[in-house]
Amino acid sequence: MRTLKVIVVSGGVISGLGKGITTSSLGRLLKARGIAVTILKVDPYLNVDAGTMNPYQHGEVFVLDDGTEADLDLGNYERFLDQSLVGTHNLTTGKVYRTVIEKERRGDYLGNTVQIIPHITGEIKRGIREVFQTSGADVVLVEVGGTVGDIESMPFLEALRELSYELGEGHMAFVHTTLVPVVGPVGEAKTKPTQHSVRELRAIGIRPTMIIARGPAPLAPEIKAKISLFCDVTPEAVISVPDQSTIYEVPLVLEAQGVGQQLTKLLGLPDREPDYTAWKEFLATYRRDSSEIRVAVVGKYTDLRDAYLSHIEAFHHVQGRLGVTIHLDWYDAEDLPRDPAALARVSRADAILVPGGFGARGVEGKVLAISAARETGIPFLGVCYGFQMAAVEFARNVLALPQANTTEVEPATPDPVVCLLEDQKTLATLGGTMRLGALKVSLTEDSRIAQIYGRTEVSERHRHRYEVNPAYLNRFREHGLRATGRSPDGRVEVFELADHPFFFGVQYHPEFLSRPEAPHPLYLELVKAALARKGVPADVAPAPARA
Ligand code: GLN
Repeated sequence: MRTLKVIVVSGGVISGLGKGITTSSLGRLLKARGIAVTILKVDPYLNVDAGTMNPYQHGEVFVLDDGTEADLDLGNYERFLDQSLVGTHNLTTGKVYRTVIEKERRGDYLGNTVQIIPHITGEIKRGIREVFQTSGADVVLVEVGGTVGDIESMPFLEALRELSYELGEGHMAFVHTTLVPVVGPVGEAKTKPTQHSVRELRAIGIRPTMIIARGPAPLAPEIKAKISLFCDVTPEAVISVPDQSTIYEVPLVLEAQGVGQQLTKLLGLPDREPDYTAWKEFLATYRRDSSEIRVAVVGKYTDLRDAYLSHIEAFHHVQGRLGVTIHLDWYDAEDLPRDPAALARVSRADAILVPGGFGARGVEGKVLAISAARETGIPFLGVCYGFQMAAVEFARNVLALPQANTTEVEPATPDPVVCLLEDQKTLATLGGTMRLGALKVSLTEDSRIAQIYGRTEVSERHRHRYEVNPAYLNRFREHGLRATGRSPDGRVEVFELADHPFFFGVQYHPEFLSRPEAPHPLYLELVKAALARKGVPADVAPAPARA
């Protein structure tokens, strides 16, 4: 019988230490040894899921195959593990309380007083066991969102403490990620914040088995020794992870310090020789730096890069396949209508990406950027709202319908080229009309999009409410904009423009499916088109053998 093995990753001192990358990398270490692994994120906030959260506060909402709107760390897990996850892998306080309250209302607790311990903690443990059962993994990594010491994360840490007691020796490892700041004129590394946060953890009854020290530079041996002494972990289990030029380096940094061996030993797992062949090929190509291109990204959350994390990573994956350095230049869509110099810079980009979004702010700037791409032949990819705005731009400037718009922005537009479809209008009052998750898209045979994918049936993830209005499709087609991808029920999923080097809009979100070892074909071809336009031959590295 399989027995549950768990690696908990907590964070101390401050947030934003790269706990998600650490957790993902630990997963990769085990996977490289042929161990079946999965990851669960627990998020102490009260939102049931990330769907209602502002990208400015929390970064992008990452959509899973099953339509769950999840924390962006789930995206890191999928990319590092090269595995798709489902909604049970993101447990929030909101979800846990909702379940417990529903059970209470149904009378499941048989008149007992319902309490944080044991009912909330019990539900958290049930969630972890459920992921173990349904995923078939031998090891479940649990990343605890927030920082140890937060009131919010207490029930989660308590549940994990209980679980480690229940599972007994050799079934659980606690990895604590902390900051070792470097201060003062001589650049002294300070261990006190780490000591304090470990003390906090021990007060809850958890003794870390490994400490991952983040900071600007590698830890000196005496600093490792000091942390070991004060925090009661072996010196080998104090791991130094200084900032890296790419996050994809982190698994190798951990491996070099024996983390994989230590964890397998702790959990009684087979320690096979790890295989990083494909991963190392990716990194080698990533650094080749044979030429460079600049991509203009025109969005409305450009002040917070995390709001576009999956797009950024998708370009990194392309860099790891083509060996060209890809610079992303960020443009706030709201500035473009009033800043001709910025618009002129967009018009000189090697490629333009208009990502998704919601609401009226910034849409006119997106339309201007799309015009520039369409008219000058700059390779263009429009994703979701970017795709819808490409339809608006085309209707206004090619079909000469100056008031064309999406009804999301202008409900009374005489030319609603993007709108709610009839069947959605009745549903709208009930809420929950968002089209979410992995859905089939059929591509027109002999279209360019089908060539790019090398297939005519694909599955892509969605997150949108509005649709391209089919009433305009004939006129679009007569002028060169063809709908070459459709959902099984006929919704428009893809636009491609004839007589343009590369002009594609997609209703779905290709960025969510790009992986280091398998860059998404749309991003790959966008960059190749940009290189071709510059006269640089794209030297595509062969696809690495997939683990
Ligand atoms: N706002 C648009 C819609 O709801 C696009 C959504 C998106 O870009 N994710 O349809």
